[in-house]
Amino acid sequence: MYSFSRKELIDILKDNSLNDWLFSFADKVRRENVGDEVHLRGLIEFSNICKCQCNYCGLRSPNKNIERYRIAPDDIIFYAQKAVEMGYKTIVLQSGEDEFYSCDVMCEIIKGIKNFDCALTLSIGERSFEDYKAFKDCGADRYLIRIETTDRELYKKMHPYMDFDNRVRCLKDLKTLGYEVGTGCLVGLPEQTLESLADDVLFFKEIDADMIGIGPFIAHPQTPLKDSANGNFILALKVMALTRILLKTINIPATTAMETLNPNGRIIALQSGANVVMPNVTLQNFSSKYEIYPDKSSLSDRDEAECIIKSIGRTISKGYGFRSNS
Ligand code: SAM
Ligand code: SF4
Repeated sequence: MYSFSRKELIDILKDNSLNDWLFSFADKVRRENVGDEVHLRGLIEFSNICKCQCNYCGLRSPNKNIERYRIAPDDIIFYAQKAVEMGYKTIVLQSGEDEFYSCDVMCEIIKGIKNFDCALTLSIGERSFEDYKAFKDCGADRYLIRIETTDRELYKKMHPYMDFDNRVRCLKDLKTLGYEVGTGCLVGLPEQTLESLADDVLFFKEIDADMIGIGPFIAHPQTPLKDSANGNFILALKVMALTRILLKTINIPATTAMETLNPNGRIIALQSGANVVMPNVTLQNFSSKYEIYPDKSSLSDRDEAECIIKSIGRTISKGYGFRSNS
C-alpha cells in the first residue's frame, strides 16, 4: 500500500523533474492492480439543458449562444441498445441538470436500459437521497459527480447558488446506497493552488471513490472565465497519476479534456494510470452541441478506440468493468 503525506503530494506536484518517475510508477501500479485491460464505456450525452451556472461550463443556464437539445426517453433507450449491440458493457448517461428528467422519467429510462446486458452509470448532477435511491432500485449501478475542487472558497466562486456541503452530501448518499461512486476535479481553475489539488487527491482517498475523472479546465468563450488561461495538461496528468498510486484498484478514464488539450492526450493518460475510455455513442449532431468547452475532442468511433488501445499493447475488456477487487 503506497501512501503520500499532504506535504509529499505538494512537493511532487511542484517538482517537474520527478514527472517521468511519477508517470511510469503510476503506469506500473495500474498494470499490477487493474491489468492491461481497458474498459470502454458508451457515453450518451442526452441533454445540454442545465439550470446551474458553473462559471467554467458552456452549458451553464445564462449561456444563450448555444442550441439546446434534449433526447427523448425512448431514443435514449434506443441509443443504449445500439451501444450494447456494438459490444459496450457499460452505458453512461450524462446531462446538464435538466428538470424535464424527473425522478419518474429517469426511472423509466433506467429500467428500459437495464433490460439490456450492461452496467449503467448516471452523471446527472445533484439530486435528493430519495431520487438516488429510486434510481438504484431501478438498477443503476454507478454515479459520477465530481467534487470539482475541495477548496471551499474556490468552490463558492465557481458555483453561484450551489453548496459545497450538498455536493459532499450527494457523494455520501450515493456511497450509502451502494453505488460505485465516481468523483474528480478540474485542474487549472483560476486561483486554484497546488495545495488544494493535493487536498483533492486526499479527499478521493478519504471517501474511497471507485472512479476518478480528472480534467484540465478549458476556457469557454461564452462563460465568465472566457479570458482565463487553460489548465495545464501535465499538471492534470500528475494529479491523475498520484490518484492512481493512492487508489490503486479504481477505474480512471483518459478524459476527453486531456485529449482536447494534447493531441496524444488519451494515449499519454492511458500510459500514466488511466484504464477507461468513454466513446460517445450518440449522433455527432448531439455531441457537437454538448459543448462544455470549445473544440471538445469527442471519440465516437468504437473501432478507432480499439485501434488506439491496441496500438499501445493493451486489450479491450469484455467485462462490465466494476472496480477491481485485487
Ligand atoms: N451536470 C453534471 C455535473 O456537473 O455533475 C454532469 C455534466 S458536466 C458537463 C460534467 C463535467 O464537465 C463536470 O463535472 C466538469 O468537471 C466538466 N466541465 C465543465 N466545464 C468544463 C470546462 N470548461 N473544462 C473542463 N471540464 C469542464
Ligand atoms: Fe450544468 Fe454540469 Fe455544466 Fe455545471 S458542469 S453548468 S451542472 S452541465
